[in-house]
Amino acid sequence: MTQSIEKVGIVGCGTMGSGIAEIVARHGHQVHFVEVDDRAVEAGLERIEGSLERQVSREKLTSDDRDDIRGRISGSTAFEDLSDCDLIVEAVPEVLSLKQEAFKRIDEVAREDTIVATNTSSLPVMDIAVHTRRPNRVLGFHFFNPAPVMKLIELVRTVVTDEDVVNNARVFAESIGKSPVVVGDRRGFIANQLLFPYLNQAIGMVETGYATKEDIDHAMRFGAGLPMGPVALVDLVGLDTMLGIMNAIHSQFQDTRFAPQPILKQLTAAGFRGRKDGRGFYSYEEPGSSRTLPDDDIRAPADPDTIAAWRTIGVLGTGTMATGITEVCAKAGYDVIVRGRSKEKAEKVAASVSKSMQRMVEKGRMSEEDMVAALARIKPTSELEDLAPSDLVIEAVAEDLAIKKDLFSDLAPILREDAVLSTTTSSLPVIECAMVTDRPDRVVGLHFFNPAAIMKLVEIVPTVRTEDVVLEQARAFVDKVGKVGVLCPDRAGFIVNTLLFPYLNDAVKMLESHYATAEEIDKAMKLGAGYPMGPFQLIDIVGLDVTLAIIETLHREFKEPSYAPAPLLVHMVSAGYLGKKAGRGFYVYT
Ligand code: NAD
Repeated sequence: MTQSIEKVGIVGCGTMGSGIAEIVARHGHQVHFVEVDDRAVEAGLERIEGSLERQVSREKLTSDDRDDIRGRISGSTAFEDLSDCDLIVEAVPEVLSLKQEAFKRIDEVAREDTIVATNTSSLPVMDIAVHTRRPNRVLGFHFFNPAPVMKLIELVRTVVTDEDVVNNARVFAESIGKSPVVVGDRRGFIANQLLFPYLNQAIGMVETGYATKEDIDHAMRFGAGLPMGPVALVDLVGLDTMLGIMNAIHSQFQDTRFAPQPILKQLTAAGFRGRKDGRGFYSYEEPGSSRTLPDDDIRAPADPDTIAAWRTIGVLGTGTMATGITEVCAKAGYDVIVRGRSKEKAEKVAASVSKSMQRMVEKGRMSEEDMVAALARIKPTSELEDLAPSDLVIEAVAEDLAIKKDLFSDLAPILREDAVLSTTTSSLPVIECAMVTDRPDRVVGLHFFNPAAIMKLVEIVPTVRTEDVVLEQARAFVDKVGKVGVLCPDRAGFIVNTLLFPYLNDAVKMLESHYATAEEIDKAMKLGAGYPMGPFQLIDIVGLDVTLAIIETLHREFKEPSYAPAPLLVHMVSAGYLGKKAGRGFYVYT
């Protein structure tokens, strides 16, 4: 039977509680929240008003609607004020004892038929439900941040939640414009169990100094197409909240990867809990603001004078990456010598670039004149010696260390002394390529992303031997070809693959454990975390074989037990289900 939900109570009006109040009131419901003291009530109302005001100023809301919404929301410190609510959502901090205490108090005042929900991100709903006299009417109602915007709601059913409670919650979630998935009571549910280990790992990279927070955020935005970088996302989520989530996930799965990075504890203890405090990993203009203040991490811009004399780029290879890189360099005004194992193969690269540029001309993104000039700059060859005039050579042949090393050792004696050598490897050690040359100090990794003509990111990978001036030249070159460069030392996976592929592997393991279907997991990551596609859609596009190879490389490099490839992934590759290219991967393609 569908139970009508008119009035909604909220306990805790912080980041999430205020967002929940707003979205619920916006759909015509009366909302009352309770907070710890009068100051917190005031702060809660101000947060809601601030958010409504921003929407009025962006013309997303009229001032009449704002007044109506605001008029439906009240706050107090008295739990008794929740006695006439049909649904109560608890959103106090992610600490089990606080939630249990809040539930006891809710239980004392709520009507018998009231549905009581927790917005916990990771704590066992059952451990909270048993602190009421109605565990059968308790469920998880997990909104995502920002609650008014993100579409996903994870409805968490415990072993005792009544079916009608789940159904009513589902109907209510849909009525406020959300898209629910129903899941079992496991820590982190779908989205957070997949998202937070990745966030934790990203913070680990900052903490150990592998890369700066800005570079990590840029890498994931421009290399993986995510709407927000992981470090900025942690600031939005709240470091204390993340700490609670990591501890909860760790206590269930006992995997060291889930142990919260120590820096989270330190910043939280210092009162730097993220955007809500005006400072977390980044510093913000004011508490609650999304505008960051500049800090010491920001590098000085690269100096274009270091490559002012560069005219010619050599590209080694004729595959997808070599073609994209050729296009990028020719567009930027360089002469490009493309060397393939045969002249025909090298000419095919020029032909592909020509096709791609013609499409751009048709779409009005390039002038006919620029296209003709750029194409005239591409010189296909099969002779290694023809690369002699290059200022920089970018190697983009098969991902095989022996082949790359052979090429590097043959090529180096041909080049001028001051020429720079680079590889676009995504996982092999750059230093091994450098050491077979006569100039290990002038070798650097330049990891472009596929399709290179479109993807903005280049991971710039200095080895322990790379000279500073070469690193500067690499940075200036990446700027000159219109890409976003990030710096990361020479180790397998660099930033993007190290952060992306364990997450994909975790998703396969979740599917394998029958916790959720591929469709549900994809939906959770798209609607809950704003990912442009779900992990299974992405694996199908990347190819299951490629995904497996990268995970195996990471596993070999880091010896991290949980990087062991998911058996399901291995079996699917053996079965030839390689993804879109094979017509079948996690989905079937016609
Ligand atoms: P927050 O720190 O921003 O807000 C918590 C609020 O609860 C504070 O205003 C605090 O004063 C109030 N509070 C504390 N004890 C209380 C009590 N006994 N009674 C009434 N109010 C009390 O935290 P948040 O980020 O809003 O997180 C709240 C819950 O939502 C947590 O369980 C968290 O895991 C979950 N959640 C958070 C996010 C996120 O991105 N921040 C996303 C989804 C779910």
